[in-house]
Amino acid sequence: MPTDFDTIVNLAKKRGFVFQSSEIYGGLRSAYDYGPLGVEMLRNVKEQWWHAMVRTRGDVVGLDSAVIQSPAVWEASGHLTSFSDPLVECRNCHNRFREDKLEDLHQCPSCGKRDTFTEARQFQLMFKTNLGPIESEENVVFLRPETAQGIFTNFDNVRRTARMKLPFGIAQIGKAFRNEITPGQFVFRTREFDQMEMEFFCRPEEAEEWFHYWLDERVRWYVGLGIDAQHLRLRAHDEDELSHYAAATEDVEYLFPWGWDELEGIANRTDFDLRRHAEHSGKDLRYYDQEANERFFPYVIEPSAGANRATFALLIDAYDEETVRDETRVVLRLDKRLAPIKVAVLPLSKKPELMEVSERVAASLRPLWATEHDVTQSIGRRYRRQDEIGTPLCVTVDFDSLGDQAVTVRDRDTMEQDRVGLDALQGYLTEKLA
Ligand code: ATP
Repeated sequence: MPTDFDTIVNLAKKRGFVFQSSEIYGGLRSAYDYGPLGVEMLRNVKEQWWHAMVRTRGDVVGLDSAVIQSPAVWEASGHLTSFSDPLVECRNCHNRFREDKLEDLHQCPSCGKRDTFTEARQFQLMFKTNLGPIESEENVVFLRPETAQGIFTNFDNVRRTARMKLPFGIAQIGKAFRNEITPGQFVFRTREFDQMEMEFFCRPEEAEEWFHYWLDERVRWYVGLGIDAQHLRLRAHDEDELSHYAAATEDVEYLFPWGWDELEGIANRTDFDLRRHAEHSGKDLRYYDQEANERFFPYVIEPSAGANRATFALLIDAYDEETVRDETRVVLRLDKRLAPIKVAVLPLSKKPELMEVSERVAASLRPLWATEHDVTQSIGRRYRRQDEIGTPLCVTVDFDSLGDQAVTVRDRDTMEQDRVGLDALQGYLTEKLA
């Protein structure tokens, strides 16, 4: 059963995963700030992506390129002319919509009036600003709408310095900015977001094979982090949906509370980008194959994911409710690697002798895992809170601990408790969190 949208948004707000941006000033529409738990989880998601896409592979290296790049980049990539969405306005209520996302082309979803839309016009999605103190046409620059172009412009730098041979990939995580016409659905569509992109360069004749390889790999990544395979599907783009650079694209879609929607796009970008940058820059960006003694433009397969969307989907999929002793228990069954807090240390009461031990235990765990020392409210409510934020393990210090130098460790999923000696605690947790 897909989790109800409001339930998950309320939990995210109440527990400090996500806040409305500029909330004290009434909020900025569709901009969000990540709170103490949200930032941990978002970092964990990016870390897992980096681990899977870079660290554990011999054929992919990383990059962190600038947000503001030469406008020539966007000229060459085609973004200046083609990175736009069709915008229509309702003549009755003056709300604006993205035409390709309208359910009914004849009815305004805001006021309900029929046939009130203006002709569609192409709306440029890149944010414009000026470089330096003078505002003029000459120093207009753009905030990058995707991280990919920084990879293409550095293709030769990376290939040369990291001595990469085809096939190989360059990966990057970073902010991207799009002046979306209709942002919405909480953090699903915002105007600034984190992308996790990898450009995998290969011989043109091998592109199709690598495309299918990456489709499988990327679905496997989500499933490996706990998303129910039934809630994921691949959807191939129709001819008329394909971007100007792509020979084939499939989206990894997730069953969001409002229906199937895009988590990640995997595209065969052919040699479009390298060829265009070579033409526009005058630099030879072809790859030289020594053995065959030939020069050619590699093809590129791009898995492009949104870190915020992935985090949102992982949160939704982890949400669970069960009845325990006639009460509803809410549990975030997050993969341990993603859980914002790994261990909560809970003294049974605020008595100084217990606090002294629990503070010492928490301090010893902090260098190893994200640890919370939680001392307020009854122990039952504290367990409930930790279940709700997905903490895999709770370590309780009770009065017996003073005598037997042991603590109780409670498992989030099974609620089973083990008595563990303080000297064995680190080893026990290492095993459980492995
Ligand atoms: P859409 O058609 O929904 O606007 P897109 O197909 O243009 O999206 P891509 O250019 O393929 O999106 O971007 C790759 C990934 O970046 C998306 O799958 C998504 O996870 C993320 N992404 C794109 N736009 C946004 C946004 N406005 N907010 C959050 N994440 C986004």
